[in-house]
Amino acid sequence: MWLDSHCHVGAADFDADRGDVLARAWAGGLEALVAIGSGYGIEANSRALDLAGEDPRIFATVGVHPHEAIELDAAGRERLVGWLAAPRVVAVGECGLDYHYMRSPREVQRAVFAEQVALARERDLPVSIHVRGDDASAWDEMLDIWHAEGRGGVAGVLHCYTGTLDFARRALDARLEISFSGILTFKTADDLRAVAAALPLERLMVETDCPLLAPVPQRGRRNEPAHVALVGTRLAEACGAPVDAVARATSANARRLFRLPVPARA
Ligand SMILES: [Zn+2]
Ligand SMILES: [Zn+2]
Repeated sequence: MWLDSHCHVGAADFDADRGDVLARAWAGGLEALVAIGSGYGIEANSRALDLAGEDPRIFATVGVHPHEAIELDAAGRERLVGWLAAPRVVAVGECGLDYHYMRSPREVQRAVFAEQVALARERDLPVSIHVRGDDASAWDEMLDIWHAEGRGGVAGVLHCYTGTLDFARRALDARLEISFSGILTFKTADDLRAVAAALPLERLMVETDCPLLAPVPQRGRRNEPAHVALVGTRLAEACGAPVDAVARATSANARRLFRLPVPARA
């Protein structure tokens, strides 16, 4: 049984056939999924909450994506704090730093990420973290903020991991799990597969980040939660581990981090 630890099933891309997409996920062996609220505008967080309210196998996160950091105002803050109190919210996020697209200024991204780590600490919630950059600065600054605001009291996951082995080890030491997306299946991802193989399996997770990043052989099409099995199978090959052991380990890790009921049943 797989667990998609990071997907955007609330995105408008799924409006026409969301029921079919979710049915394929359950039929494809998913036990649960974590619907990420942020990434499509701050107000769209409520869609993840709505979906979590409709199916006990769906859990929600709410937060402010680094792309949207510049949009966060007093009203947005108030909404965020309200949503965080909802019973089906299992994490803050996705939040973090994106110095590749740079849709919000660096200092705003840093401040809004710091604010959310502090909120997670106050609320005793884990954090789903997004980091992207063309040099090491986004990764280093993320970890600095994580230590300063989390003070060792917050757990989290680095979603869609594409960093180095050295940084992954620093993250593991900082109570951060590592999640791999469809990028792990790309032809050019030999380095990333070597990183995955060198990490402890019990600290890893798998995700789709759908509707983006469809794994091979679906690459280029709309992604969906059922495809998390393709990511997990590639991870198993990279690690030289049985597929069912990888499914068990990654799902157990996600359930532990997000404190999901075991098992989530429809
Ligand atoms: Zn992300
Ligand atoms: Zn995402």
